[in-house]
Amino acid sequence: MKLAKLNGKAEIFYSIQGEGKNIGKPSIFVRTSLCNLHCRWCDTDYTWNWEGTPFSHDYDSLPGYKKYSKSEYIEELNISEITSILKEIPCKNLVLTGGEPLLQQTELSELMAALRKVDSGYWFETETNGTITPHEEFDRLINQYNVSPKLANSNNPQKIREKEDVYRFFSSNEKAVFKFVIATSKDLEEVKRLISDHNIDTQKVYLMPEGTTQEKLNAKQQWLIEECKALGTNYTDRLHIHIYGNKRGV
Ligand code: SF4
Repeated sequence: MKLAKLNGKAEIFYSIQGEGKNIGKPSIFVRTSLCNLHCRWCDTDYTWNWEGTPFSHDYDSLPGYKKYSKSEYIEELNISEITSILKEIPCKNLVLTGGEPLLQQTELSELMAALRKVDSGYWFETETNGTITPHEEFDRLINQYNVSPKLANSNNPQKIREKEDVYRFFSSNEKAVFKFVIATSKDLEEVKRLISDHNIDTQKVYLMPEGTTQEKLNAKQQWLIEECKALGTNYTDRLHIHIYGNKRGV
């Protein structure tokens, strides 16, 4: 499986879930490499913004920013190697994240099945951008989908970020919750349209303020909480920003 590589090794770390339905839950994060979208503000751009690709990123204007070398930022491990790493960590809650984990759902299904053989108490949740339909086997093994569809502000064309059949799968799947990142009132209007067009139960929806500093999050908090109350959605903070700031691998 292709995992993101951070500080010379596969990005697997023990922390707490910082967002959404399971906020505060101690969890192991397994970050897969590769993504099928190219969000202009992505903070895990080292999973897809490869040398030689044409995609633009907000960081392009930063001095010294350059695209990533695949060999330096992908760590390829087999299932038994990953299982051995995970067995050493005293936690049975796994968050599969990325990149876009569902690009490697066959391998992730093998990993989940292997871990359940070790201990049937393993709990698995996956982050996904909501553009790929899970296979039957993956759906059987996963406990929770954290679906985080991308909005127009991501710079991905609508036809690749908003897929009717995939929305239908997740909006009718009991294991799925939706998380939308809100920066502006325009984002909120777009989310209201998505909820309505794709028939999403607002009780499955979490709205989260955009921001990579406590100050930015706090500035949007009151406004967004009032909007959640009016819409009947949930509000979620970004707990890890309050605890760790905008650091990778924590
Ligand atoms: S879908 Fe997620 S990982 Fe992929 S480019 Fe967008 S923010 Fe980054």
